[in-house]
Amino acid sequence: MSDHSFIPYGKQSLDEEDIQAVVDVLRSDYLTTGPAINQFEEAIAAYVDSKYAVAFSSGTAALHGACFAAGITEGDEVITTPMTFVASSNCVLYQGGTPIFADIDPVTYNINPLEIEKKITDKTKAIIPVDFTGQPCELEEIIEIARRHNLIVIEDAAHALGATYRGQKIGSISDMTMFSFHPVKHITTGEGGVITTNNKAYYEKLIAFRSHGITRDRSKMKEDHGPWYYEMQFLGYNYRMTDIQAALGISQLEKIEYFIKQRRKYAELYNEAFKDLPQLTIPYQKDQVESSWHLYVIRLNTELLNGVKKQIYEALLVENIGVNVHYIPIYQFPYYKKLGYAKTGFLNTEKLYQEMISMPLFPAMSRADINYIISKIKKIISDFSK
Ligand SMILES: *Cc1c(COP(=O)(O)O)cnc(C)c1O
Repeated sequence: MSDHSFIPYGKQSLDEEDIQAVVDVLRSDYLTTGPAINQFEEAIAAYVDSKYAVAFSSGTAALHGACFAAGITEGDEVITTPMTFVASSNCVLYQGGTPIFADIDPVTYNINPLEIEKKITDKTKAIIPVDFTGQPCELEEIIEIARRHNLIVIEDAAHALGATYRGQKIGSISDMTMFSFHPVKHITTGEGGVITTNNKAYYEKLIAFRSHGITRDRSKMKEDHGPWYYEMQFLGYNYRMTDIQAALGISQLEKIEYFIKQRRKYAELYNEAFKDLPQLTIPYQKDQVESSWHLYVIRLNTELLNGVKKQIYEALLVENIGVNVHYIPIYQFPYYKKLGYAKTGFLNTEKLYQEMISMPLFPAMSRADINYIISKIKKIISDFSK
């Protein structure tokens, strides 16, 4: 066993200010639906340059809200990538819709716009592209396809808070954009998520959806029983974020530039160390986009390292390096197989899945951690090379 302590693949960075922000809410009058929620939403909207932001209890709940606001219902098809976390397609199932997977680009690992176009039918209602690892997807092409076919774009930017696409912040471009505040993401609220949008109609639907479909706005009510009356107008959920979480989010957001800077710095150290190794492919860097580096995914060159991903993975774990695989293609899970999904037609997704490993990457790592990981990777892949 390694004498280096375990390095997870991702982890939150909390400081005394964050802790104090939470304690302050605990001593205040509102634990939920108080002032911190609006402040957090305003701060997120300002940061990503969107008109509106609606906080949710999780990123998944936020995606569910976006699917509702987009009007996705039974019979509707929604195109997304299979190389993502299950939430990206589960949110469609929650609304009774049908996720349709489209293969990724072999170089960027993001959904391929040409593959999207092939999957469009009369039933297609929306596209859910994912900014995989924090690298913005081909938004211009995707939005152009969406406009031409009258589709709504719900961007899953769980990995991409702070990323930019051709000079614009992610969160201001698609019809709706989701960010997650799970502890491994760029900033955390414990659990939490948000939808950003410039569209007032979506905004109003999202606000009601996260609280049972209830409105307190008299101008929107069908009836009026008196001053106590609020009105439930559709079936919503309790997907509210607490003020405890929002206060943590406000405090965390103040440090976002530092967090991204650290992630970028470590990604560059990995790139520098791995770029000349014939056994590995490092992440692709696109012109005119800035990744926010949620994940650092290396790819094993199967000509030199054939069939040894599992052994390499295990060898890294033995060295206390908390590697991971992002992601298991969604259609491979038993639940999706039972729904009738098969793995045909996803050559790039299948190949990437065979070859990919995520390295630890988070702001609280030390330079010594990075050096340790680099030296172990180099040693292990040379041990396994043919
Ligand atoms: C984290 C994540 C989500 C879901 O976010 P939660 O806040 O954990 O519900 C959705 N999509 C992707 C790609 C994610 O990484």
